Amino acid sequence: MDSKLISGLHHVTALSSDAQENLNFYAGVLGLRMVKKTVNFDDPYVYHLYYGDYAGSPGSLMTFFPYNGMVQGVKGRGQLTVTSFSVPAGSLDYWMNRLDKFHVEHSRPAGRFESDEFIYFEDHDGLGIELIESADDEREGFTNGHIPPEFAIKGFYGVTLAAGNHEKTGLLLTEIMNHKPVNEKNGRIRFSPTGKAGALVDLVRTNNGSFGRSGSGTVHHVAYATKNEESQLEIREKLLSAGLNVTPVIDRQYFKSIYFREPGGVLFEVATLLPGMAIDEKPENLGGELKLPSWEEVNRRDIEKNLGKISLDIEKFRE
Ligand code: ZN
Repeated sequence: MDSKLISGLHHVTALSSDAQENLNFYAGVLGLRMVKKTVNFDDPYVYHLYYGDYAGSPGSLMTFFPYNGMVQGVKGRGQLTVTSFSVPAGSLDYWMNRLDKFHVEHSRPAGRFESDEFIYFEDHDGLGIELIESADDEREGFTNGHIPPEFAIKGFYGVTLAAGNHEKTGLLLTEIMNHKPVNEKNGRIRFSPTGKAGALVDLVRTNNGSFGRSGSGTVHHVAYATKNEESQLEIREKLLSAGLNVTPVIDRQYFKSIYFREPGGVLFEVATLLPGMAIDEKPENLGGELKLPSWEEVNRRDIEKNLGKISLDIEKFRE
């Protein structure tokens, strides 16, 4: 079924510097759950930290490769510049207050489309984040025990791509990845397969802007969700037929992935919904232990020593 090949966002993966600060910001200040503590499968001496809702559902997963001491990147054309999270209607006052308490500078609320009241801020590395109020997002938020449930983040709202060639990126989304244009205003075009929070991709016109540079505080790639391995192969064929250079299917333990660079410069991934985060930890223990892919278990002692320990002191983040 062609129309269902891509169902929405799966995860966003970004580069950061200090791992402990990263944990403090996303699990502490924002109250996301660290649902997996593993390593970069392509560079096992670096953490790969996953944050999300209780179950680590696709569409809620923000993940990081923290490279200690990494130089800050530059946001710009050819990048995913803003990751937006969905929060309940009427919760921005709470979040502005909370960000103030933790000395995180933020914008005043502004509108974008009819119902997009949002604030913008950056994490400790300068990564662009928004909280957007969404009245009809029925997903349950995650409180981490210290965020009142009526304000908790529900998962992604959407992402903003400063694609280097927004016409071509738009065509890729509509012709191959079953997105439809759902809104347009002030040089921003919104695409989605469903029109719902968690599945929104905004392209902003930056055809003349300067290109971004990779480094901490920039996004490495964005992954879109596909139902299963069969639909993944189907979309892979379509991408190949369109002349895109797509990787073979790679086993990421928690999902299977293919990667390709879209014509505007952003690295795209298509990831399967299953098997999911609970494949190697009980749901109640997600993120509890350092998980290594089986082929790295022989190096566990060495890897652990190199990574250093991180832990969240939740008391610091209560109000
Ligand atoms: Zn990924």
